[in-house]
Amino acid sequence: MGSAGAQQARWTVERGDLQQLLDALRGAGYRLIGPRLRDAAIVYDAIDRVEDLPAGWTDRQDGGSYRLERRGDQALFGYAVGPHAWKRFLHEPRLSLWRARRDGAGFRVEAPADEAPRYAFIGVRACELHAIAIQDRVLTGDRYADPAYRARREGAFLVALNCSMAGGTCFCVSMKTGPRVGSGFDLALTEILDTERHFFVVEIGSERGAQMLAGVARREASAEERAEAEAVVARTAGSMGRELQAEGLPGLLLRNLEHPRWDEVAGRCLTCANCTMVCPTCFCTSVEDVTDLSGDSAERVRRWDSCFTTDFSHLHGGAVRPSARSRYRQWMTHKLATWVEQFGSSGCVGCGRCITWCPVGIDLTEEARAIRQSDGAKRGKDHGRA
Ligand code: SF4
Ligand code: SF4
Repeated sequence: MGSAGAQQARWTVERGDLQQLLDALRGAGYRLIGPRLRDAAIVYDAIDRVEDLPAGWTDRQDGGSYRLERRGDQALFGYAVGPHAWKRFLHEPRLSLWRARRDGAGFRVEAPADEAPRYAFIGVRACELHAIAIQDRVLTGDRYADPAYRARREGAFLVALNCSMAGGTCFCVSMKTGPRVGSGFDLALTEILDTERHFFVVEIGSERGAQMLAGVARREASAEERAEAEAVVARTAGSMGRELQAEGLPGLLLRNLEHPRWDEVAGRCLTCANCTMVCPTCFCTSVEDVTDLSGDSAERVRRWDSCFTTDFSHLHGGAVRPSARSRYRQWMTHKLATWVEQFGSSGCVGCGRCITWCPVGIDLTEEARAIRQSDGAKRGKDHGRA
C-alpha cells in the first residue's frame, strides 16, 4: 500500500476486534499506555487489554471540579482529558542525570543507562497532539535538544482519537487545536456507538500505522460510516464547555500588565502550581542533588518545576517574582502571549486541565475575558511594583 493512498483511506474495525490492534502493537515491542480508572479519575497508565479501558464511564468537569459518572452505554473513550498528559511519559517528572558512589578515598560518577521505552499511546486527543508538537518544538526543535525527550518521542507510536465528547472546561475550538485530529499521528480512531453496533472508523496517518493496521480485521469504511464519524466530531465541536477569544490576545495581555485584574486573581490564587503540573505544554524543570544518609552515594536529578514557586525565579538575593500576582501574570502571559514570540505558537491548546484542576477554580478564559472587557484599566498607585 503506498503511503499517499494509505493516508486517505478510512477503515472500519469492530469493537470486538480492537484487541487485535493492541496485540499487534505489543507484538511489535511497544509498551501500551492508555486511559484507565485510578484514584477516582481517568489517568494514563499501562494497559494490556481493551478491558483495561474505562468502558461505560465519563467525567463531569468544571472549574475546580472533576467527577466520574456512569454512562448509559459501554463507550471506551466517552470522556474528556483527565489530570495526566502524555508529557509524563515523554518528559518525565523525575529523571536521574547521574549518580556518584564512594570508591575508597574518592568517588565514581556513573551516568544511568537511559533505555528509552518504546511507548504506544492509545487515545491521544487532537489538543494533545498539538501539545506534543509544542513540546517537540521546545525540547528538540532548537540548538539545545533534550536527549531523554527525543529518545522517548522518536520511539512513540500514537493512536489518536477524534473526541466524541467535549469536557466542561474544553476550548480546543477557540485554539484551533481540535476536536478533529489533524496530523502527527500513526492511526486515528473515531468511536461510534448506536443501538446496534459499536465500531471504530480508523484513519491511517503514517506508513507504520498502515503496517500495524494490516494485522487487524478490518474493511473499508462505507460512505455512511464515514459520515457518522464526521458527525461525531461536528457534535463535539458544537458542545465546547468554554470559549476563549484568541484573536489579538498577545497584544491585549502585554498592554495590560498593570491591569487590576492581576491583583484580583492573586487574591484567589494559592500558587499551588497545579495548573503547571497538569498542563500538557509546561516544560520547566529544576535540577537538584540528593544524598543518602550514609554519605556513600549521591544523585543529581531533574524534576518538573513551576513558575508558581518562589524559588523558581530566585536569583542572587531573592525571587524576581515574589508575589502571587507576578507569578500568575507570568504564567498566563507566557502561555498566551510571549510563547508566540518565543516558539511561534500559543502555549495553550485549550485542553481545560488548568481550569479543572485548579483547587479554587481559576479559569484563564474568564481572566482573559475580564481583561478584554476593561482593556487599559490600571491598578491604583498605592500598590507595590511586584
Ligand atoms: S494553559 Fe490550561 S487549557 Fe491551556 S494547554 Fe495548559 S492546561 Fe490546557
Ligand atoms: S491558578 Fe489555581 S492551580 Fe494555578 S497556582 Fe493558582 S491556585 Fe494553583
